[in-house]
Amino acid sequence: MTAANEFLNIVGLINEAKKIFVVGHIMPDGDDISSVLSLGMGLQKLDKEVSMAIDWKIPSYFSELEEVNLIKTYEDINNFEADLLIIVDASSPDRIGRFSEHLNRLKSIVIDHHATNLYFGNYNWVDPTFGAAAQMILRLNKALGVKYDEKLAHVNLMGIETDTGFFRYSNADERVFRDAAELISYGARPDKIAKMILENKRLEQFQLLSRMIEKLKIECDGLLAYSYLSQEDYETYNCTEEDSGGFVSEIRSIKNVEVAIFISEFEKGEIHVSFRSKDWFDVSKIAVSIGGGGHPRAAGATLKGDIEEVVNEVVKITKAALEDELK
Ligand code: AMP
Ligand code: MN
Ligand code: MN
Repeated sequence: MTAANEFLNIVGLINEAKKIFVVGHIMPDGDDISSVLSLGMGLQKLDKEVSMAIDWKIPSYFSELEEVNLIKTYEDINNFEADLLIIVDASSPDRIGRFSEHLNRLKSIVIDHHATNLYFGNYNWVDPTFGAAAQMILRLNKALGVKYDEKLAHVNLMGIETDTGFFRYSNADERVFRDAAELISYGARPDKIAKMILENKRLEQFQLLSRMIEKLKIECDGLLAYSYLSQEDYETYNCTEEDSGGFVSEIRSIKNVEVAIFISEFEKGEIHVSFRSKDWFDVSKIAVSIGGGGHPRAAGATLKGDIEEVVNEVVKITKAALEDELK
């Protein structure tokens, strides 16, 4: 099945469906929230009965965007019946949290841009050439005949802006700029999105950042940099995992660093590993090898265990892979 055929199948299935359940991934980022909202709001414009949901708390800085209130939690939903379950920006069933329980029961569509996608839906439109899943939603909405207004354009742009690191990463190609320009022509405001996400920090986050920098280590002649925060660190600074969003990019910003790793113990014994690379090292392979996924330049995995042991293990395998590449 080619991606083009799968796209047409999906348009047909959505046209026929009345009640649609749109689900994003746990630990939601800007692209995930944008994709859930843009698809959900688009489908509402077509008079579909839509539920939008994510099995995780939405980071508080997104609450400036009033539309995020449309996204329900697992607990909010008391009727899981639907003609279609559409999953966006998620590469494997575990990424949708408890909503994965409904995968075998409901007809499912996966719309994603991760090369590591497991094609876990009944229908899968997966295209890693897109910088953001939100670009796929823009195309889907237009094929469905959704008319864009300012609000829809604005939430749709958020995913493109955040997944390209505000148009800085290597995935910020010509199509990204064209899609962004189109959404801006409908009334989206890239400056407002950037301000909401980048210039909305609590003072405690700076103290947490300083703790992260204190623990920073450099290996492999400066090519690998990593740091981590334990549950105690978060508690000390009255912070949670959402306050360390962006820390891994700070690590990557160090001169000559190719691979950056940031490891956070977001709950006692529950650990998230974020990998980033600058030019050539494929971090998605490492992430997959420890049960996660992602893109060549940005990948992640969620594990259980002792934080120090996980840090040692993750650094060990990354170092070995990096040294192997350098041979
Ligand atoms: P993060 O480091 O959490 O910002 O994630 C970077 C990239 O890796 C994003 O594209 C995520 O969707 C993906 N990713 C993060 N965590 C996981 C995971 N546990 N399993 C699969 N993909 C992940
Ligand atoms: Mn995402
Ligand atoms: Mn994405």
